[in-house]
Amino acid sequence: MSPVRVRFAPSPTGELHVGNARTAIFNWLYARRRGGSFVLRIEDTDLERSSAESERSILEDLDWLGLNCDEGPVTGGPYAPYKQSQRKAVYQEYADRLLREGKAYPCFCTEEELEEKKKLFIKKGAQPRYDGRCRNLSEEERRRLTAEGRRPATRFKIEQKELSFDDLVRGNVTFNCELIGDFIILRSDGMAAYNFSAAVDDALMRINHVFRGEDHLSNTPRQILVLRALGFDLPRYAHLSIIVDQDRTKLKKREKSSSLRHLREEGFLADAVVNHLALLGWSPEDGGEFMTREELIGKFSPERCSKSSAMYDIAKLRWLNAQHLRRLGPGRLLELSLPFVEAAGFRAEDYERAWLTSVLTCIRDNVETLAEIKTYLPIFLTPAPPIEEASAPETRSETGLRVVEAFRRELERVPAISEQTFSEAVKSVKSQLRVSGKALFMPIRVALTGCAHGPELARIFSLLPKETLLGRLDKVLHP
Ligand code: GLU
Repeated sequence: MSPVRVRFAPSPTGELHVGNARTAIFNWLYARRRGGSFVLRIEDTDLERSSAESERSILEDLDWLGLNCDEGPVTGGPYAPYKQSQRKAVYQEYADRLLREGKAYPCFCTEEELEEKKKLFIKKGAQPRYDGRCRNLSEEERRRLTAEGRRPATRFKIEQKELSFDDLVRGNVTFNCELIGDFIILRSDGMAAYNFSAAVDDALMRINHVFRGEDHLSNTPRQILVLRALGFDLPRYAHLSIIVDQDRTKLKKREKSSSLRHLREEGFLADAVVNHLALLGWSPEDGGEFMTREELIGKFSPERCSKSSAMYDIAKLRWLNAQHLRRLGPGRLLELSLPFVEAAGFRAEDYERAWLTSVLTCIRDNVETLAEIKTYLPIFLTPAPPIEEASAPETRSETGLRVVEAFRRELERVPAISEQTFSEAVKSVKSQLRVSGKALFMPIRVALTGCAHGPELARIFSLLPKETLLGRLDKVLHP
């Protein structure tokens, strides 16, 4: 069997979003699982809608996701160029071949004429399609129209009634070709239409598996017809289930939460995003949800892809993100957190790296995304975080003040700051004042951190210098 070759073929007409990122992930996982090649192809034949900016941001997001390609516009490879705008001559050559063999024909209909025809179909309640007007023009008519200055498009001639193929996810799929109508493969400006360039490139780039969204299912018969007419082998298609939002409607591309860049800026980890998106239309045999990249690669199989719609669930993604965060090694945690430390207004270089890493390790158990660390950074990186209004009464009540006062006395006496000396100090306050539970812990927590919730208090305590701790207690005692 020939090695697996898959491709991700984005059109650079916008940012990478959850839908096309999922497509990229499935192709990548399959390539990695089978020791195959993952090809990146930029489908920028629609010059008006494509932009260099979108292309750049898509490449950046793929890079961030860690979906390294084996061939592509930057990496290069044996089937270069991997950008369709640079392959015009290739499409022209194959279109000419179809014209010569009578499998395609020039179509002189203008935009306006086509629009009129479309309206007529709609009026009759029928699905609009090309009526075949230019199919049987004589050579003379063609010459006359060309002499009028009309530049023809090239249309594929559909001659079969029905077409079936075996989809890896959906099983046997059958289309009535009569409903498709002869379709354009080269526009009058010489640019290839998507269904033509995609089919030709899949063949020339030796792609043998195509994972893509279900919304492309209706394009597949056109691509199969082109491939067959040119005598190429067909790839195996796998049309992935539709992605829906929590309200069960189709996921909107423009929604902020479905943009990869937005997820990255919010402090989601690439591993967690890959994990969640891999579960949109696929599940492992053991039903597990948290998976590292290696586990995903080890478990991925097209047989376990499902036809039913998959829900993009930001709450689930947050949960997975928290799981991945907790498993980060200290070096990686620091590296990934630094931009968020800076974004919160602190200069990372002002702090000792080992200490900052301990601070982040302490905070990460209390957050789901890296952007959320900003809530707790002031506890460590400012002399005294302001006490939040809602928690202030804890330190103002009579008991609260007595607790803080007693704790300060104990703190003064401790030989060294550690989690151990913290619990000893608290224990001593408890027996002196006979207070326990919330009445004991809350005043200390609020005095030391400014709020009633947050990372484990003993750990916070152990990470701060004695003077800082004393200073915060004094602020409460002598406001
Ligand atoms: N350029 C197409 C898109 O971005 C690719 C579809 C395909 O995978 O064939 O939707």
